[in-house]
Amino acid sequence: MTLKQTGYKLTNNRITLTFRKWDKGKWRFDKVPYTFHKHRQWHGTIRRITIKRDACGDYWICITTTYTEFKPLPATGKSVGADFGMKDAYLTLSTGEKVQHPQPLKHSLNKLRSLNKALSRKIKGSNGWWRCVRQLAHLYRKITNQRKDFHWQLASKLCKRFDTIAIETLNLDGMKRLWGRKVSDLGFYQFVEILEYKCSKHKRFFKQVGQWTATTKPCSDCGFHNQNLTLNDRQWTCPECGSHHDRDINAAINILRAGIAVP
Ligand SMILES: [Zn+2]
Repeated sequence: MTLKQTGYKLTNNRITLTFRKWDKGKWRFDKVPYTFHKHRQWHGTIRRITIKRDACGDYWICITTTYTEFKPLPATGKSVGADFGMKDAYLTLSTGEKVQHPQPLKHSLNKLRSLNKALSRKIKGSNGWWRCVRQLAHLYRKITNQRKDFHWQLASKLCKRFDTIAIETLNLDGMKRLWGRKVSDLGFYQFVEILEYKCSKHKRFFKQVGQWTATTKPCSDCGFHNQNLTLNDRQWTCPECGSHHDRDINAAINILRAGIAVP
């Protein structure tokens, strides 16, 4: 439900909604006050408010204002390439850092299974069945929130530290075929969207390297293509120049180099 100028009155953490009702040949206006938990203070004049109800039955009030003043983050003069991974780390940076993913779905899998089992034992529509449905909805919301929280924080951290962020274009279908459920839990695509949004907000350069660009096999020191590299080789030594590589860090450096070349 979206309200523009009328139909509501907003003060600090209370909102009064006006409901219109046809009563005995004329309109009756009922004012109903609600108290809400104010997550953060809004600035500027309110353009519209939206009231939403989620799957758990909780109500959320979204306030859109005219406020546009915004300070972009200071330039750092640093660039980074990032390689997505499934095995060792979620994200490997060209600086050599590895970021692990909390994998919320994996951690709640046992709980999910037992709840689903409990649900299937209950009579559909009974009180116990509804209680189970509510518990499941809450658990799903928690998992989604944990994933989102991790993504936003990671995108924020990257934007604070680097001016240019280069990543690979994802081949999600190929990944899903290889890894199944884990791909959805990691939420690569959602993270890329958040990162892109954060970059445009903070005036960072966001570069995506095409998925046909070779990033894993070339040696980041001399450019030699190591054709013998397989998925299981996590570490390798370049036969040409002799430098020792961590597979993911090497890819991240190649992504950074290819990303800077993208106009
Ligand atoms: Zn080499």
